[in-house]
Amino acid sequence: MTSDSTPPTPSSQPPNQPTDINAARKFAVPNRLAGKVAIITGASSGIGQAIGIRLAAEGAKVVIDYVGRPEGADDTCQVIAQSGGTAIAIQADVTRSEDIERLVAETYRRFGRCDILVNNAGVEKGADFWDVTEADYDLVLNVNLKGAFFLTQAFVKRLIDSKQGGRIINISSVHEDMVFPHFDSYSASKGGLRMLMRNLAVSLGPHNITVNNVAPGAIVTPINKSLLENKQQLQALLNNIPLGRMGTSSEVAGLVAYLVSEEAGYVTGSTFIIDGGLIRNCHEQ
Ligand code: NAD
Repeated sequence: MTSDSTPPTPSSQPPNQPTDINAARKFAVPNRLAGKVAIITGASSGIGQAIGIRLAAEGAKVVIDYVGRPEGADDTCQVIAQSGGTAIAIQADVTRSEDIERLVAETYRRFGRCDILVNNAGVEKGADFWDVTEADYDLVLNVNLKGAFFLTQAFVKRLIDSKQGGRIINISSVHEDMVFPHFDSYSASKGGLRMLMRNLAVSLGPHNITVNNVAPGAIVTPINKSLLENKQQLQALLNNIPLGRMGTSSEVAGLVAYLVSEEAGYVTGSTFIIDGGLIRNCHEQ
């Protein structure tokens, strides 16, 4: 944990470092999300954890969904509680429909409502296209796309029944648009999320439910552990990022906080790229 607000350089960011809690809170707008309840999937680490801390710092009650790493979820809830926020951890695998139903039902049971859904859970599996196994394909598509699809469905059913508006954010990736060789299933899942978001913005707009994607470039989180440990590969990536560094989870969380706020009430159907300029860096000369 550090109180330094200067964006860290990649070399100062070990791959498994926990979210910089102070950074996640630094720009929080007090009470902007007061009275709101948010579910964030895959929130025991990385970007999801920073989003949980940030939304709680803005007054939302947050549900930290996780699989497999209860200590990460518990730490996140503790950090939030220590600063006066409210968070609960619920273990729910987004690929399982019974877990999805339980996640939403439990959120309503504990908090009586749910206004915000952040579909953040994601996995990636690298391989040459011709070597991709069906099991790996299923895992990536099930977590990244099917999970977001059916959790969103469960979330909006309740909103529509109670005639309440809401906010949906999918953490997609620059790879909803940008080619990523060796990660074909990942790119397909994120491209699918892009069209799902666009469709849902149209279907759910009349219900006052907004849907947007946040598309990070390269962010220092556990998902990039092997990249961060490979100096040569890391340098090649940094050479392609106009801002010359990777992003932080807190920076992504700040964008999400705005998009789920009342202030963003007229924003729907869009992808918001946060990548230090990476996606624009293919140019002549
Ligand atoms: P991460 O590995 O820390 O986070 C992914 C989280 O998803 C983990 O907590 C994991 O436990 C959870 N998860 C996996 N399968 C799940 C399941 N079945 N049900 C519920 N949760 C599950 O990495 P991250 O970088 O914080 O990734 C968060 C999101 O950001 C992912 O969707 C990822 O694709 C996206 N993203 C990350 C980057 C980056 O550079 N870090 C760039 C673009 C997009």
